Amino acid sequence: MSFVAAFNALPFESLLARAAGASAESVAAVLARGPSSLADFATLLSPTAGGALETLCRRSQALTRQRFGRTIRLFAPLYLSNECINNCAYCGFSRDNPILRVTLSVEEVVREARALTDQGFRNILLVAGEHPKFVSGGYMAECVAALHSFVPSISLEVGPMETSDYEPLVRNGAEGLVVYQETYDRGVYARMHTLGPKRDFDWRLATPERAYAAGFRRLGIAALYGLADWRLEAISVAAHAAWLLRNCWKAQVTVSLPRLRPCAGEFQPLTAFGDREMVQVIAALRLFLPDVGIVLSTRESAALRDRLLPLGITHASAGSHTEPGGYTGAGKDAVHHTVRGRIVELAAGSSEWVPSEGRATGATGQFDIADDRSPGEVAEQIRRLGYEPVWKDWDAALTA
Ligand code: SF4
Repeated sequence: MSFVAAFNALPFESLLARAAGASAESVAAVLARGPSSLADFATLLSPTAGGALETLCRRSQALTRQRFGRTIRLFAPLYLSNECINNCAYCGFSRDNPILRVTLSVEEVVREARALTDQGFRNILLVAGEHPKFVSGGYMAECVAALHSFVPSISLEVGPMETSDYEPLVRNGAEGLVVYQETYDRGVYARMHTLGPKRDFDWRLATPERAYAAGFRRLGIAALYGLADWRLEAISVAAHAAWLLRNCWKAQVTVSLPRLRPCAGEFQPLTAFGDREMVQVIAALRLFLPDVGIVLSTRESAALRDRLLPLGITHASAGSHTEPGGYTGAGKDAVHHTVRGRIVELAAGSSEWVPSEGRATGATGQFDIADDRSPGEVAEQIRRLGYEPVWKDWDAALTA
C-alpha cells in the first residue's frame, strides 16, 4: 500500500482536535509513558504541551544524544539550475517570475563541488528546479557520475521522477533523495501550485517510495511552514516519516522544518509558525520518532540555530548559496531570462546584469538565507556547544 492511501485514511478531525485541545492529564500521561501513536504525537503539539516545553526539550535533547551521540552532520546545497516549469506561489524560481536563470554545465558543477569539498564538506545536496529541457535525467546522471569519485555522500532535491528514471542516478552514486511535500493540506496545495506537473499532489506524495524502490537509502521529507496550519503539517509529516520508517526500513529518514523566506515574487506567509512552535515540533518529533534525522537549514538565523542545534537536530547546512554558481561564480557568462522554455539573452549593458551583494553569478537565488556564517564558523560554534561537526553523512556501510 502506498502512503497516499494511508494518508487519505488518517483521522485528521480527531488528531487536530487533540492537537488543539489536549488536557493537562492527557499531556502528562503521554509524557509519562512516551508517545507511541500519532494521537500521542498530536497531544504533544497542543497548547497545553507547549506549556511544558522545557520538559519536552530536555527529553528531546537526552534522546537525541542517546541515539546520535553529540554530533551534527554538516551538508551544503549545490544549486545546478534555477530553471523551472512549475508555478509555486511561494518560490523565487517559479516559471512566471522574470528572474535571471542559468543551468551549470557538468564541468561547472564539478568546480562548485570542489569548492565545497575544499571547505570540508563530504555530503552535498544537488538542487535544481524542475525543467526537463534543461535538467534532464541524463544531465543529472552525468553530474552525479562526475562528483562520485570525490564526494562520498550525494543527495538530490530535484523534480520527482519515475522509479526507472531514478535507477541510473542511484547506479551513478546518488544515495539520498529529498522531496518536500510543501503542504499536506490538499486545498492549500491546489491554490499554491497553479501550473506544471507539481499540481499532482499524490504523485509528489508517493515520490519517496519510488525513490526507495529505485535504491535510494536516505529519504528526506518536509512541509514548508507558513502555508497551512502548522499542526496539520506536523501531524502529516510525522505520519509520513513513521510510514517510511516502517515500509522503507533500509532507508535513513530525515525531516526538515523549513519556514518561508523572502524570495522573488515576494510571497507572504499565509499562516504563522513561530520559534516556540518550531521548538515544540522538533521535540515532539524526536520523542515520537527517536531514530529520525532532523535537519536545520540556513533559512534560520545564526542566533536561533545556535539555540535549536542541541534540542534534537542531527543535520545542518552551512555557508549555503541558493543560486546556481554561488560558490565559485560558475555560469556567470550564461545567465539569461527564460520565456516559455526559450532562452532570451540579456542585452549588453542590461541593467539587470548586476550581481546582487554576495552573489557571484547574478543568477537569482531561490530564497534569502538568514545564517550567513562560513562553514568553518558554524563548525566552530557546534564545537563550542559541546558537539562534534561531522562532514559526512551516515556511513554508506550502514545504509547498504
Ligand atoms: S518550489 Fe521547486 S518546483 Fe516550485 S517553482 Fe520552486 S524550484 Fe520550481
